Amino acid sequence: MTAVVIAFAGIGAGQTAWTTPTAAEVDAIYSDIEAFYIDLHRNPELAFQEVRTAAKLAAHAKALGYDVSTGVGKTGIVAVMKNGPGPTVMLRTELDALPVEEKTDLPFASKVVVKNANGQSIPVMHACGHDIHMSAWAGTARLMAEHKDRWHGTLMLVGQPAEEGGGGAAAMLKDGLFTRFPRPDFALSLHDDDTMPAGTIGYHPGPFRSMSDAVTIVVHGRGGHAAMPMNTVDPIVLAARIVLALQTIVSRENNPIDPVVITIGSIQGGTQANVIPDEVRLQLSVRTYTPEVRGKTLAAIRRVARGEAISAGAPREPEVIAREDGSASAVVYNDPALTARLAVALKAGLGDKTVVEMPAKMTSEDFAEYWNTGKVPSALLHIGAVNAAKFAEIQRTGIPGPAPHSPEWVPDRVPTLKAAIRAEVTELLELFK
Ligand SMILES: [Zn+2]
Ligand SMILES: [Zn+2]
Repeated sequence: MTAVVIAFAGIGAGQTAWTTPTAAEVDAIYSDIEAFYIDLHRNPELAFQEVRTAAKLAAHAKALGYDVSTGVGKTGIVAVMKNGPGPTVMLRTELDALPVEEKTDLPFASKVVVKNANGQSIPVMHACGHDIHMSAWAGTARLMAEHKDRWHGTLMLVGQPAEEGGGGAAAMLKDGLFTRFPRPDFALSLHDDDTMPAGTIGYHPGPFRSMSDAVTIVVHGRGGHAAMPMNTVDPIVLAARIVLALQTIVSRENNPIDPVVITIGSIQGGTQANVIPDEVRLQLSVRTYTPEVRGKTLAAIRRVARGEAISAGAPREPEVIAREDGSASAVVYNDPALTARLAVALKAGLGDKTVVEMPAKMTSEDFAEYWNTGKVPSALLHIGAVNAAKFAEIQRTGIPGPAPHSPEWVPDRVPTLKAAIRAEVTELLELFK
């Protein structure tokens, strides 16, 4: 009887159920995938400008027999393979890179520089590993297409623009990702990580990545001669006070059980040493996990900025602008049942030691939107990307190594790419079972 059931599952005599690609199956496509990765790494593109990148992924999927749509949510792509009855599973990669000047010693390091709207030169780098994600996605697309006889359902491969700074997932949803295309039963993604050795898969059920707000504070003073501070209200001294006072929101006002980060990533004011400027601009990144803590923290930032300005005798209150751009208003929520199911399958396929539960993070991800707005049960898993010897050294010395968004972030590509492909295919096969 068992043999009959297996035959109905589309697996021929002598084959066992395909639950995880073998190392040999991944090795056989690896050199193509590495070439794909190196080309993407050399040619990064910023958010919503991923024209070449999207075309490359679209051409790859089309050649494999996927039904490919481009220009979804500006530069996004959707590649669908309908393969009989069964669930619809979405696997998403990000397309975009960061405005970071690469400082790795890779022979294929990015030298790309683009001009922004103001004519300034902006270096571009895949500093978040989205090139790793796209290449694993491409390898997974190939293995799934070449083994169509071994699974049933609808595979929906998504190349999402503009993850950095947010906006890409929302743009694709607004453009009909879940209405013009088959609505997925599950949404999956995989992100590289600096806290695990290369190839280790980390999962975290429930809230996993924080909300993020980009806040700008414009501090107004009264400028003048550097030698006559008594005739001025120095906005640089006032901004410095605000920078320090903001940290007491985290340490003195917030319940330590609730995670909050306030980082001032940019402070700009003045032109030269002997002039006191009129204004200073601060750019903040605010990370929280609940709407209540978020609201309290943003209100406290307004109050502290205003209070310090009053204390300094500023001629005008500071403007505190919580901008949509750069903000992610939702937490990545990993569906607990889905995450548990994937963890069991991954442990069976890749080994218990390679698949570990990991802590939640204060970084954010607009993958959150597929559950938050789209209501599709989702799971974002992470994959360690640190060279094993380097990882051991970091553990021994306690000195952190480069992480995503660092100009020196270099995933250990061979073990990371191979494990990413095996993990993604394993997850898909589990859900198509
Ligand atoms: Zn990133
Ligand atoms: Zn990223």
